[in-house]
Amino acid sequence: MQISRRTFLLSTLLAPLAVLAIMSKPDSLLKSWSELNYGGKVIYFGDSEEKVVALTFDDGPDPRFTPQVLEILTKYKVPATFFVVGAQVERHPDLVREQVALGHELANHTYSHPELTKVALPEVFAEIQKDQLTILRFTGTSPSFFRPPKKLYNQDIIKLAGNLGLPTVLWTVCIENHSVKTPEAMARRVIGQAKKGGIILGHDGRLDRQKTVDALPAIIEGYQKKGYRFVTLSELLNGKASPKPL
Ligand SMILES: [Zn+2]
Repeated sequence: MQISRRTFLLSTLLAPLAVLAIMSKPDSLLKSWSELNYGGKVIYFGDSEEKVVALTFDDGPDPRFTPQVLEILTKYKVPATFFVVGAQVERHPDLVREQVALGHELANHTYSHPELTKVALPEVFAEIQKDQLTILRFTGTSPSFFRPPKKLYNQDIIKLAGNLGLPTVLWTVCIENHSVKTPEAMARRVIGQAKKGGIILGHDGRLDRQKTVDALPAIIEGYQKKGYRFVTLSELLNGKASPKPL
């Protein structure tokens, strides 16, 4: 509890400083903060020599799809990383607590899923910070990665996230794609794009994601048949193992 509180106080104190730094753009200051906190970095895949991949899900938690995804991941003993939306975390805290208890990782996908390139920078800051604090409040864990909603970002947004200690993580292949209509075709396409260090994106909330859920077992089996092992983003990018083995 002490650590959570200290983190919260520290974040609150640093918040206005970070906004000021970005707004006034003192390049030397930004540079040093960037070097310290991976600012400006956008990650599409992990630099891995091993056959490892990270399965990631955006837009949850959502009671329609998240429990189904968790059941499949548990069945196959596969860890995943969930880029959760703070407003959804407040509505369904039991789901995020379950994700953490099962050994999955939580990451930052903003508090209310806005199009960040259309809002002012202080609001971008508030969105990222509020998601971070909401996740911390309900689970006691603090995300290490950020993903902008709908892949809408610019350099200021990436730097801001970096200055909050959050590298921006996009993806190598997305399960949902307009060229594929059925769960079978979705799975085939994703398996066909398997690569070492790959980051797979799926969704477990907001829109109807049943096809994604239905494609998931075949995707996992396809990757495992090719000799791939699933890891959390932290393990893929920082070499840090899942907090609790499945
Ligand atoms: Zn999203």
